[in-house]
Amino acid sequence: MIQDIGKHSYDRSYSLAPAQERDFALCYRGGRVLLRKVGTEWALPRFCDFPETLRPDLTTARHFFALDGVGCYLCDPDPAEDALSEGWEYCSYQMLRSVRPMEVAFAAITGAQLDRWYKARVYCGRCGAKMRPSGIERAMNCPDCGLIEYPKISPAVIVAVTDGDKLLLTRYADRPYRGPALIAGFVEIGETLEDTVRREVLEEVGLHVKNIRYYKNQPWSFTDTMLVGFYCDLDGEAEIHLDRNELCEGVWMERSELPERENDVSLTSEMIEMFRIGEK
Ligand SMILES: [Zn+2]
Repeated sequence: MIQDIGKHSYDRSYSLAPAQERDFALCYRGGRVLLRKVGTEWALPRFCDFPETLRPDLTTARHFFALDGVGCYLCDPDPAEDALSEGWEYCSYQMLRSVRPMEVAFAAITGAQLDRWYKARVYCGRCGAKMRPSGIERAMNCPDCGLIEYPKISPAVIVAVTDGDKLLLTRYADRPYRGPALIAGFVEIGETLEDTVRREVLEEVGLHVKNIRYYKNQPWSFTDTMLVGFYCDLDGEAEIHLDRNELCEGVWMERSELPERENDVSLTSEMIEMFRIGEK
């Protein structure tokens, strides 16, 4: 999965240390992130990789996290697209599903979530004053009314509903991702994760479930989400009643007919694969 970066290390410690030439520069523009193609692999650009005239300002760059001990800093403003030479590219977030090595894709999308959050917290949502960085932790503070805002992480469930040797596969009605999916939905205020599982399955396909088992979780920065995966069993009637606002397809598929693993970045894909190979 995208957060499984092997021997590489992700350190989210908050830091006010200024950027150095060898640190990575995270540049976001219109839902895309600036990467460099080095041979067949992608890399995060370091400040020192930029030509002198395009080099982002070290003194205003904001520390986000460290990858393998190298600081990753948000650059604002980011270099204009038409000024970049060959091998430099603003990649769409969808493209990060196939960008390798994985630690580059992970750092790029994790930074995108932080970038999105900072841009949405310029002003206080309660009194409208301009927010300020806390300076001691990852938070934005309102100097007028005292509101403190922490990064937005929305919990959501991914649910694999099984009925013997069958798995319920879905397809989203209107999202960029068009591959096979499982039941998914955000946790609402006051709900347990198991409540969310039962509610989402009932809402999206009109089925009841039992024997809910936790599998794994995944930070999914594409949608500011913490995904929590569950397997569960059908309880009663198997006829699907699709919520057409959310899904365009919902079918029971035999284990032997399931498609091979679609990608190696998502929890959904891993959960389908685990069932396909009989591990679940
Ligand atoms: Zn305020």
